[in-house]
Amino acid sequence: MKRNITLLSLSLALCLSSLTNTALANTQDKPFAIAIHGGAGTISKAKLTMEQQQAYRAKLTEAVDAGYKVLAKGGDSLAAVQASIVILENSPLFNAGLGAVYTFDGSHELDASIMDGRTMNAGAIAGVQHIKNPIELAYKVMTDSPHVMLQGAGAEEFALTQGMSLVPTQYFDTAQRYQQLFDAKQKITAAEMTQGYQASVNALDLDYKFGTVGAVALDQQGNLAAGTSTGGMTAKRYGRVGDSPVIGAGTYAENGVCAVSATGHGEYFIRYMVAGDICAKVKYQDKSIIRAADEVINQRLITAGGSGGVIAIDQRGNIATPFNTEGMYRATRSKGEPAQVMIWQDQ
Ligand code: ASP
Repeated sequence: MKRNITLLSLSLALCLSSLTNTALANTQDKPFAIAIHGGAGTISKAKLTMEQQQAYRAKLTEAVDAGYKVLAKGGDSLAAVQASIVILENSPLFNAGLGAVYTFDGSHELDASIMDGRTMNAGAIAGVQHIKNPIELAYKVMTDSPHVMLQGAGAEEFALTQGMSLVPTQYFDTAQRYQQLFDAKQKITAAEMTQGYQASVNALDLDYKFGTVGAVALDQQGNLAAGTSTGGMTAKRYGRVGDSPVIGAGTYAENGVCAVSATGHGEYFIRYMVAGDICAKVKYQDKSIIRAADEVINQRLITAGGSGGVIAIDQRGNIATPFNTEGMYRATRSKGEPAQVMIWQDQ
């Protein structure tokens, strides 16, 4: 009898240990990775001081590490994307949350979106003025409302029903962004008087410092997610909405295919369905993520005259970060590897 019990416990122990080993092997085999961006634009090497560079690199590292930690613990890609984006929204260095650019009228209107590649569900908000972390509200729209996009006062009312508090719009103010508005307005009004509104906006393009933030991630369960958050473009007119909250333009995620977050001149990204087009090339033309993203950013968009870039990730954790501007703040981190932080093509 005693011998039988010992044999039984031995086989139970063996069975348990083989189960644990299989579970371990399963997670060990699973790739996971995250990529983030802090905006593309005219980031001049000559103008960015060493201290500024270090500040950007440190914040990007902190943000990518936060998302990576979520993934390494087995957390889901949606949580990782939010963990990274919240850190960038809370930093005045980037054009999202605190430090958002000013509208033409001197206020702030923020846009954000998030997409779950597993369910193809998505949430977005546009033109909010009192939400400290727009990505969190976009997530709530996805999980707790029957809608995909809420805008303005309605979005803020929804935030209150979700127990989120509102911040005064002055919370987003920074002196540096105010100066950018001042400079931009002078150029716009001068050009507008001679060439009209459309020409004046076009003339300003290269001076916009984009600075939107975003993240894409693949978790150990194979789920893809993408999120983007922005203050939009300096001196945008009242009510203008860019690509960042538009699913398929600034943000897209689909399990088995890819996840994309964009930054750049939103009007082009909307018209060329940039995020969705990259994933369509992967899905229907079987192109690699590197090739698909490069074709859209460095061929199609350049021909169209649209500037900006994307971060994109595929089902195996391959990452592409093409941009057609001087620079794009970005960081990536793949399973078991240290963070890679870059601003220009080569560093
Ligand atoms: N894409 C954003 C917009 O057009 C701007 C940016 O990426 O910085 O609103």
